[in-house]
Amino acid sequence: MGREVSTVPKVQNMSLTRTRKTLLHEVESRSSEITELASDLIKIPSENPPGNVDKITEFLVKYLRDTGVDVSVVEGFKGKPSLVCQTGSEQDSRILLLNGHTDVVPVGSRERWKFDPFGGEIKDGYIHGRGASDMKAGLAGIVFAFTLLHRERRELKGLLKLQLVPDEETGGLHGTKWLMNGGYADSTAAIIAEPTGLEAIDIGQKGILWLKIETKGTLAHGSLAPYVGDNAILKAASLTKELQSITRIRARPPKEIRQVISSSISIAEQLIGKKGIGRILRTPTVNVGLISGGTKVNMVPDMCSTDVDIRLPIGVKAQEVLRKVRTIATKHDASVVVISESPPNYTSPTEEIVKILERNVQEVTERKPRVFVQWATSDARFLRAKGIATAQYGPAHLEGIHGFNEKVRADDVVAATKVYVALALDYLS
Ligand SMILES: [Zn+2]
Repeated sequence: MGREVSTVPKVQNMSLTRTRKTLLHEVESRSSEITELASDLIKIPSENPPGNVDKITEFLVKYLRDTGVDVSVVEGFKGKPSLVCQTGSEQDSRILLLNGHTDVVPVGSRERWKFDPFGGEIKDGYIHGRGASDMKAGLAGIVFAFTLLHRERRELKGLLKLQLVPDEETGGLHGTKWLMNGGYADSTAAIIAEPTGLEAIDIGQKGILWLKIETKGTLAHGSLAPYVGDNAILKAASLTKELQSITRIRARPPKEIRQVISSSISIAEQLIGKKGIGRILRTPTVNVGLISGGTKVNMVPDMCSTDVDIRLPIGVKAQEVLRKVRTIATKHDASVVVISESPPNYTSPTEEIVKILERNVQEVTERKPRVFVQWATSDARFLRAKGIATAQYGPAHLEGIHGFNEKVRADDVVAATKVYVALALDYLS
């Protein structure tokens, strides 16, 4: 165990130590049940879009009820059910939330898959199919862990919540965010079983600033351009080129997270396989993703609309970027509307839940985990926005996530389940 994790109180109570040992053995001896659960979840398609998770939610409700868990399904938006349940004691102030999303990204072109994306085939030590890594393996892990912890609920000093949500792949507004706003997700710490890989713990992510920029021009006959009329598309072209200067803004992250960001840079370069790409954790990225303008080929366009996706690293404020965008826009006589905004966010690496997670990952995998920040976003942002210490940890085979031929190592699902059980016992002891 590393020196930096030694501040976490050790498990003190003998009966809890016994429970912990017994449960970890039980996870091992019932490993095939866990991998079959992950496989069963893959067999229920829940592609988003369209985002229908009724069937998989129904399946999970039945699975949990069969083990004696009291489950509720809540739905803030029609067709967007979230499964919520809790166990343990309400006498204590600690509340640990286990969260996972039931939707998956679409399969895409079926011919590109070497196996049935909804087959859930378990072969050569892997579980195969869409969502295997992101995140039906993680779901199986937290669900199985919850059933064991529910059985041993008398050992828990505090509440353990399990929430299985829709809509994560299209923004999370109808899932985790809605639960958060309704008070369901109130907790003192949270673990999201998103795919990080067995030896990596994610504690932060970049922010989002999506903009719609409109340039205006003056209509004229196409045969007179560029001498008569004013071309809105050409204005958009020079404006978007100038927007690239946003990528030169340099982040000033708080001291407590700087070391984690530095080490995440090499992780990003390794994962993406492009030297220098780690800069995305220190500077904003800018993607001109959608453009539409003009009326007809022989008319000078009087309008052009451009959607821009800017990602903000930890240590860059949306306002700072927006000011710069507006200055550029003014030069081109353009208007700027914010479509979506979410600040970069992180949980301090010194938070107790992070330390407990680190310690248990090290114990289960016998390797020191890497703590990192990611460049994509997830539901963690909603929890962190409410001050809940949130870490992401889950089994993953990174190749194939949001792509083709997604799979996950069966052993990793079992190992992650052990981590979930152990960390919940430690946090709620
Ligand atoms: Zn995910």
